[in-house]
Amino acid sequence: MAFETPRVDPLPFRVAVIGGGGTGAALAWDLALRGFRVVLVERGEFLSGTTGRHHGQLHSGARYAAGDPNIARECMSETLALRRLVPDAVEYNGGLFVALDGEEAAYGERFAEACAEAGIPAGEIPPARARELEPGLSAKVERAFLVPDGTFDAWRVPAAFLAGARALGAELRPWTGVVGFEAEGGRIAAARVLDRGRGIEERIEADYFVIAGGAWGGAIGALAGLEVPVTPAAGSMLAVKGRLCDLVISRLRPPGDGDILVPQRGLSIIGSTQRLVASPDALLPADEEIAFLRRSGAELAPAFAEAEIDSAWCAARPLFGSALDEAGGRAASRDFAVLDHAERDGVAGVASVVGGKATTLRVMAEKAADLVCRELDAERACRTLETAPPSWRALYRGRAS
Ligand SMILES: Cc1cc2nc3c(=O)[nH]c(=O)nc-3n(C[C@H](O)[C@H](O)[C@H](O)COP(=O)(O)OP(=O)(O)OC[C@H]3O[C@@H](n4cnc5c(N)ncnc54)[C@H](O)[C@@H]3O)c2cc1C
Repeated sequence: MAFETPRVDPLPFRVAVIGGGGTGAALAWDLALRGFRVVLVERGEFLSGTTGRHHGQLHSGARYAAGDPNIARECMSETLALRRLVPDAVEYNGGLFVALDGEEAAYGERFAEACAEAGIPAGEIPPARARELEPGLSAKVERAFLVPDGTFDAWRVPAAFLAGARALGAELRPWTGVVGFEAEGGRIAAARVLDRGRGIEERIEADYFVIAGGAWGGAIGALAGLEVPVTPAAGSMLAVKGRLCDLVISRLRPPGDGDILVPQRGLSIIGSTQRLVASPDALLPADEEIAFLRRSGAELAPAFAEAEIDSAWCAARPLFGSALDEAGGRAASRDFAVLDHAERDGVAGVASVVGGKATTLRVMAEKAADLVCRELDAERACRTLETAPPSWRALYRGRAS
């Protein structure tokens, strides 16, 4: 599927996307493909928020099938879509869910049923076969299921979307953060931005604004007096040198801490933890989180205990909802929503896209762009399922910075 510049009639509308993470990148691409003139502003480097620091699991949805069936189904269909659309950013490794004790083994029935209901192929294999596939796996495995999980490069997928958007004329502005909004007659008419490269403040006018600020969505919305229900939840990860597995290995139990081992390039990454935080900025992993992750990794693959540590880091999940408190937000849905602030807050010309996963960035963008079309009375079909973006390399080629 070679990238060809699609022929679209330019529309007079200009849409401003705020936030240059995976969701904003996919949205800029989707809107540009529909013929909108797009400006994307990101207060730092592109993908420097949560997207550039996630675990790298291209979810089949199996993790969420029992408790969160909507996002499970979306993950499955988006996994298939991203494999097709951005093949050079994906490793088609597959995943294993393993039970390490009787309680986890008993969860197998519920897991298998829920996967079947969500349309996720999950086939049980004997423990001995699981250890043949992954010789580094714990000898305690009692049950194992193969699922179509995978690994993807956190940067390359959205970088391809950014490159595609720019090829279609989108104006991409990193180091440009929104610091305020201006409203006229109950409608947002302009955003005030600080261009950190040039050290100047400017006005950006647009017909419509979409806040794709991830865990920062609440703070951005507050600048316009909007209530954007996002709760930042910090998660830490620990990477060791060497591939201790080639498949993504998960514990066969409801989602919790330290239960996924992801092979990524020449590293093995265990994640993650979760705690609610007041701000998504300047997060660091705590010593006790690193110690916990070291133990958790070793439960799945014993060699993790002695492997040389490569790095540990922390990022903020943008959980959809406010004041989530159950188990640090673990029970919160990973689903997403597109919020029309004309309906919610009586402020026209602006929407927010909140929640979701990096795996579902394309469909999040599709739903947000559908709303933009409705609001601007400019019905244009989504084309991102049938159009492959250019290579991620095109984003960097020929750029001095
Ligand atoms: C520990 C952890 C592990 C995860 N692992 C996975 C995984 O394996 N697979 C998966 O699918 N998902 C995973 N996720 C979830 C996934 O990373 C996020 O859902 C996704 O990256 C969010 O993307 P986003 O674009 O919405 O947010 P972000 O990537 O955070 O983008 C928002 C952007 O807005 C910018 N911004 C903030 N304020 C302003 C402003 N005033 N003006 C302009 N720009 C602004 C920020 O700088 C940021 O770049 C994980 C999340 C965490 C925390």
